[in-house]
Amino acid sequence: MQLTNRSKVVVNKQLSLTEKLYLPAILNGLRITFSHFFRKKVTLRYPDKEREFTAVYRGMHVLKRDEEGRENCTACGLCAVACPAEAITMDAAERKPGEEHLYREEKYAADYRINMLRCIYCGLCEEACPKDAIYLTDRIVHSEYTRGKFVYGKDLLVEKVNERIDVSKRKIKKAEVAAL
Ligand code: SF4
Ligand code: SF4
Repeated sequence: MQLTNRSKVVVNKQLSLTEKLYLPAILNGLRITFSHFFRKKVTLRYPDKEREFTAVYRGMHVLKRDEEGRENCTACGLCAVACPAEAITMDAAERKPGEEHLYREEKYAADYRINMLRCIYCGLCEEACPKDAIYLTDRIVHSEYTRGKFVYGKDLLVEKVNERIDVSKRKIKKAEVAAL
């Protein structure tokens, strides 16, 4: 049964004189190659130039802090339960006296890991989080040589106190989803 008409019947015919010379075929190939020099390039000279992402782009996660610099995450585990790729794991711990300036609530994530190779950037962890703690950002996950380096811990995920990451656009989107 023929599914498309794109198939080509190959025949064992003798090459013509022009085909035997190969030169016309080579020149035609070069013509096509040179014609591409003058077309608009679809590629960018990354990392010197970066492509602008759309507002809905979902990239590397961030674990947010509150206005006072305390970690929002309470290690409730809802993001891990919601994750269809089982990419999130964590260890919970109880906040000790004197740590109130570090963690917003009595329970916090002593360890929090996301396996970026498993993640499918669906955003369900963000939607499941009741504490405004996890958001996907427009930051890209960089390439690595070993699989282990793609398991991101708190050192890469928690935002720095003096280097806040703006997630206001995603917060608006989350509110819109909640209102539906
Ligand atoms: S974006 Fe989706 S796949 Fe990735 S960690 Fe969150 S829930 Fe899991
Ligand atoms: S990121 Fe949010 S949902 Fe996940 S454990 Fe922390 S508080 Fe819970």
